[in-house]
Amino acid sequence: MGGASLPTPSTPGYGSYAGRTACDCLVAWLPVYKRLLLAKGLIKSDIDVWQLTGGAPASGGTHTQGGAYDLLYQTSPAHIAVAREMGAGAWGRTVAQNFSKDHQHGVLYGCPHNDPAVYQYTAMRNGFNGLGRATSGRFAGMWGYGHLDEYPKPSAWRTWRQGIAWAEVEIARLTRPAVKAAAAPARKPQPVPAKEADMQFTDKIPGRSENVGQALARALWAYEQIIDGGSIDRRIDSAVAALAELRVAVAKGETEVAQSILDRIEVDLSVKPAPAPQ
Ligand SMILES: [Zn+2]
Ligand SMILES: [Zn+2]
Repeated sequence: MGGASLPTPSTPGYGSYAGRTACDCLVAWLPVYKRLLLAKGLIKSDIDVWQLTGGAPASGGTHTQGGAYDLLYQTSPAHIAVAREMGAGAWGRTVAQNFSKDHQHGVLYGCPHNDPAVYQYTAMRNGFNGLGRATSGRFAGMWGYGHLDEYPKPSAWRTWRQGIAWAEVEIARLTRPAVKAAAAPARKPQPVPAKEADMQFTDKIPGRSENVGQALARALWAYEQIIDGGSIDRRIDSAVAALAELRVAVAKGETEVAQSILDRIEVDLSVKPAPAPQ
């Protein structure tokens, strides 16, 4: 593959990220990876892109289409682990392995543009690091199976799209301490003073069959369903997942779809009684 055949941002299925040509999958995936690293405190402000789509000779052609990225500095096992959870085959590549700089090399799973690199992802799933060629054993002669994988496998083999959805939930979980803190003081309501209870708990509420005590017990039960039962958490998770869809719809200019997703988010987040427990 010569440089002349490299895709450009105007090639169908491609765009750009950080001023470099990248397939649409990477254009969607990299910002979410960055946001999760920020939420985890694994970067201070940004990821450091070294190569996306490109023809660096050391890459052996794996970057000539899409779905492959190289990042400088985000090379620790923690950075690699997050990328793997998000649906990438990812490794730290080092100067000792004859690369000109230490970097993280990654290949997205489920990307239709990564033909020259996908063998490395498959090698990772089989326990190898994507470099070199096996000289013996079950994978003898196959590229990508020259060395055992140096990093742990992810908890699940997600596609890059599933990885984005998983990451959005993680980001929401890691970045909403304010919601929990605000709810915390109310979690254990002060007991009603005994003197008032004597007086009020048997009071009838005008126009209703239940008395104040029964109404209070019911309200407390409903409150605990929402707070302790995690109903708010689930609604936030669902809204966050919808946000990922919203981004895609906006990017495609599908305004009606975007509006319906917005409506759904609004319903998800409105504080209304949860449906009757089943
Ligand atoms: Zn690379
Ligand atoms: Zn792609």
